[in-house]
Amino acid sequence: MSVLLLNASYEPLTVVSWKRAITLMVTGRAEMVEQDGNRVVRSSGGAEFPLPQVVRLMRMVSFAGMRRIRPPRFSKAALSIRDGRQCQVSGCPDRGTTVDHIVPRSRDGATSWENCVLMCARHNSVKGNKLLSELGWTLRSTPTVPAGTIMLVPAYRAEWAQWLATGGLVGS
Ligand SMILES: [Zn+2]
Repeated sequence: MSVLLLNASYEPLTVVSWKRAITLMVTGRAEMVEQDGNRVVRSSGGAEFPLPQVVRLMRMVSFAGMRRIRPPRFSKAALSIRDGRQCQVSGCPDRGTTVDHIVPRSRDGATSWENCVLMCARHNSVKGNKLLSELGWTLRSTPTVPAGTIMLVPAYRAEWAQWLATGGLVGS
């Protein structure tokens, strides 16, 4: 079970294991901000600790040396989430099931967040090696590197949303 670690300023810092979070609490370096429901963990000595889902450091730390939550590596699965599983051609109601390179690979287009969108199979096959401008198509929105994309971090937990909404390091 992973735990969101906040800086003393309540900015999200990183994600740690629950064991690490409890160690930080027991040694007085962090306090619990939110418990994970009513869950507790028992030490071998029989002591009970509430299981945290969000903890906060007692002292401010600088970001140097901390493992940051990074924007997600580009993948079709991650792109599907960014694009809401929808074909990104304006007005198309179909599901996006293929990855289209806006500037085609044959024209040196990169496989990147900025150059790829989801398209339905029909639009993708019509587009082929053409540019959007050659077809008169527009996109629902300009593709960007997802900001605040902790949603794609495998350890992401919905309960963290309120802490991550404040920005902090997520997606930086
Ligand atoms: Zn389409």
